Amino acid sequence: MTPASSPLRLRLDGEALGRNWRWLASRNPLAACGAAIKSNGYGLGAVEAMMALANAGCRDFFVATWAEAMELEVLGGLPVSVLHGVREDDMALAHTLRARPVLSTPEQVKRWLRAKGGACDVMVDTGMNRLGVSVEDVVAGLLDNLEIDTLMSHLACADEDSPMNARQRAYFAGLAGRTKAKRMSLANSAGIMLGEAYAFDLVRPGLALYGGVPRPEMAGHIRPVVQPEVEVLQRRLVHAGESVGYNAIWTAKADTEVAIVNLGYADGYSRGFSNQGSSSGGLFPVIGRVSMDLVSLDVSAAPEVAEGDWLAIDYDLPTASAQTGLSQYELLTGLGNRFKRYWV
Ligand SMILES: *Cc1c(COP(=O)(O)O)cnc(C)c1O
Repeated sequence: MTPASSPLRLRLDGEALGRNWRWLASRNPLAACGAAIKSNGYGLGAVEAMMALANAGCRDFFVATWAEAMELEVLGGLPVSVLHGVREDDMALAHTLRARPVLSTPEQVKRWLRAKGGACDVMVDTGMNRLGVSVEDVVAGLLDNLEIDTLMSHLACADEDSPMNARQRAYFAGLAGRTKAKRMSLANSAGIMLGEAYAFDLVRPGLALYGGVPRPEMAGHIRPVVQPEVEVLQRRLVHAGESVGYNAIWTAKADTEVAIVNLGYADGYSRGFSNQGSSSGGLFPVIGRVSMDLVSLDVSAAPEVAEGDWLAIDYDLPTASAQTGLSQYELLTGLGNRFKRYWV
């Protein structure tokens, strides 16, 4: 439950997370739906996010590193794939844990075969030029001796209507039957909205599970999951003509009631919210510059708000992204450790 001592907390809605997963899964009923829970479950807490998603029915999880996979071992046998593959230094852990590596270089393929590593996944590059073996290498037989569960690739521009999407899809589809992979997987959150041709056997949403809206078609269907809540440390009257905060970038036009709350850019609440953000559904605008540990709100609309009260900070991800210039991914993964995370 709510920790009494922390002056800032993240309310995390496990029910909304489950519903978002089910909605995304139902876009393509013939494909399985996994979940990217890398970077500590996009900032929410990987273990708790995995539990909520597993309860909703999810059976395929994706993390970036073996350290992340190790943290999830406490949950037992659910399949976890490690997107960054296996470096030599990862091999000891890779042998101990149940997680599968997503092999992405010929060197990793050789390393895994030499170690008789067993089941794995493979990432193929189809034009993003980030991680992945080349289509040519796959066609030439690089993967022939591997025991591949999922052959995957990743879309560079799924959140845009770019001709690159169809090109990548066609390139990837051309590999069907070329390997012994049991499944093929291409789509992230945004890719799910590109239609069933992009779904293959397994889709891999991340952002949209956590309330992100990478394509406008998703608006209204994806529920918010993350809600920052902050305690009021002080309430003060600022007289007309006085300023608030660093560099005095906000000046009171009239006498203004101001609440100083326990939140700042060190918690991931970007300086981009300065004079932009708000609390309580727009009722209390952020005024002045966001400090490292403090934010000022105009609470003139609420005479009752007092020291010790809790306020909800508006954190609708598309809106916050427009206000700050940060991506929705950064807005989630930047949320810091001073937040006490609690699930409802
Ligand atoms: C992070 C990631 C995903 C999830 O992407 P979202 O845009 O958050 O849905 C899927 N696949 C791979 C390979 C990833 O790295």
